[in-house]
Amino acid sequence: MLSVHSSECTVLIDKDTVTCSFRGRLRLEDSQVHAGDLVHVSRMDGICMVDRIVPRKNLLTRPPIANVDQAILVTAITQPPLDLVYLDRVLVQLEFEGIQGVLCVNKHDIENHDEMRNLRTIYSSAGYRCLFTSAVTGYGLDELATLFCGRITVFAGQSGGGKSKLISALSGIRLRTGELSQAYRGRHTTRWIKLIRTFGDGYVADTPGFSRLELVDVPPHELGFLYPEMKKHASFCHFPRCLHKTESRCAVRDALEKGEITQERYSNYLVLLEEAVERAKRKYG
Ligand code: ZN
Repeated sequence: MLSVHSSECTVLIDKDTVTCSFRGRLRLEDSQVHAGDLVHVSRMDGICMVDRIVPRKNLLTRPPIANVDQAILVTAITQPPLDLVYLDRVLVQLEFEGIQGVLCVNKHDIENHDEMRNLRTIYSSAGYRCLFTSAVTGYGLDELATLFCGRITVFAGQSGGGKSKLISALSGIRLRTGELSQAYRGRHTTRWIKLIRTFGDGYVADTPGFSRLELVDVPPHELGFLYPEMKKHASFCHFPRCLHKTESRCAVRDALEKGEITQERYSNYLVLLEEAVERAKRKYG
């Protein structure tokens, strides 16, 4: 499924792009077809109909894209200023959705390289792939392009970080993100979300995902499991619902002391933990 409009969609079938309409109940809201969906299509009298949607592995809501494999989280260091809590908030949300996060430190042409390396050290040790790019000089774009192979990818990150310039530099397709994010706010505006075919049979969404972050709705004691570097220690904590905060015999804090978990990631964890605790209080009274 490449793109969806109100009454029809385009589907890629054996390398051909075919326009299809929806059969009966697929017109209903709750079983709506989205970009990224795998669908069964039948052809009768030259008309293609989408019969059924294959169960999804995930579905982003803003923008609606199904079966996302990977998100390239684009950040700069000073333009706009680096926000580690924001980065971790996105990465936690990605883990929750089962989407592989990749950190892309952009603006290699203007940012301080020591600070870029410092950021890579933090996120590599957390288990994330981290690469440096510049849409201006083309630095790192070959490496970035290899990540698209065979996957559905969305770009994420703060505005001004250079997401759309990166995709333009990669595919020659200029994205109208400013315009789109405006249009998206209009309640009655219909938006096509398109998946652009790219390197090695990969697909990239034409509009960035995770533009408005919602708090991941997990119980506080499960938040640690959304941090790859904490997850491997969390099951060894003495208390089964350990929050890794002040509890005794906490395997996560042991790992922090040994330097296996970075102070930066742990501090941000505490910020998000506080939010999760507050939310749980409101929810359960
Ligand atoms: Zn613990």
